[in-house]
Amino acid sequence: MFSFEFFPPADGTGYERLCATATALTELEPSFFSVTYGAGGTTRDRTIGAVEALSAAVDTPVAGHITCVGGTVQETHAVIDRYAAAGVAHIVALRGDLPADGVAANGYADATSLVAGLRRRADTARFEISVAAYPEVHPLAASAEADLDNLRRKLDAGADRAITQFFFDTDAFLRFRDTVAAAGIVHPIVPGILPVGSVAGALRFAGRCGTKVPDWFRPLFDGLDDDPETRQEVAATVAIEQCERLRAEGVDSFHFYTLNKPDLPIAICRVLARSQRGALPPVHAS
Ligand SMILES: Cc1cc2nc3c(=O)[nH]c(=O)nc-3n(C[C@H](O)[C@H](O)[C@H](O)COP(=O)(O)OP(=O)(O)OC[C@H]3O[C@@H](n4cnc5c(N)ncnc54)[C@H](O)[C@@H]3O)c2cc1C
Repeated sequence: MFSFEFFPPADGTGYERLCATATALTELEPSFFSVTYGAGGTTRDRTIGAVEALSAAVDTPVAGHITCVGGTVQETHAVIDRYAAAGVAHIVALRGDLPADGVAANGYADATSLVAGLRRRADTARFEISVAAYPEVHPLAASAEADLDNLRRKLDAGADRAITQFFFDTDAFLRFRDTVAAAGIVHPIVPGILPVGSVAGALRFAGRCGTKVPDWFRPLFDGLDDDPETRQEVAATVAIEQCERLRAEGVDSFHFYTLNKPDLPIAICRVLARSQRGALPPVHAS
């Protein structure tokens, strides 16, 4: 199963492009699309606009992300109400990064209380809720154990699944998945996959999120700055190999960080869908 994450476009033309991207991705029969939400509500109206536009454009369910720091409980609920009015029934519930001054608004303090709050509301109690997980540990977590406890609290509060931060070290995900299972957590842990559209961008994100960059990663893209086609091919191959390895280890759902571009996810998922069906045509049919 595939799902695809977008960020909210800046303007009306961006919405049209986003809907065209989503429409192109529907050929992969995704389980849902999701739209990110700027911490502190910085993209609130654009995120809601994108969720509304997507919901009107495609039949695929659309999930709205929400971050709770930087907003009051009432402001958070108002966004959820707008999502519900657009037909959304799946929330990706996040704390969001703390503001630079470290002062949060008087709202839900973390993802656990946000999930609990959504479950308490009669009209959102039935929503699907996804939360974030960190195979390589959240950069601010006191320890891997504390991070795991935090994940357990979010799931115990009523979340249905966790979607992970992206990673290039597939073993790190597999170890995390096994640790989560050994801790008695039975909820699905869906790997977040980042197809590398821009090497500089991927390295920047990785630095911010605490994602390890393995030794093999940079040399693969060396000398390809002015060769986007070869870069795309390398990026697609890396993601396909990663997903095939995960699938061989029993993973059957993948969440793609699309960066609003359909080409790489389509190429990757077409190959994955074909190999999943075992329908590789014979090379020399006689
Ligand atoms: C799939 C996915 C989607 C995302 N989408 C967005 C988005 O749309 N917008 C956005 O701004 N960001 C997004 N993020 C990033 C996320 O907001 C940041 O990583 C943020 O810093 C943490 O959010 P959280 O929901 O994981 O927080 P939480 O789960 O609440 O906690 C995060 C950290 O705080 C620690 N912690 C929490 N509570 C306690 C406690 N009581 N005691 C001790 N430690 C505690 C945890 O161990 C963890 O280290 C996303 C991340 C992922 C993986």
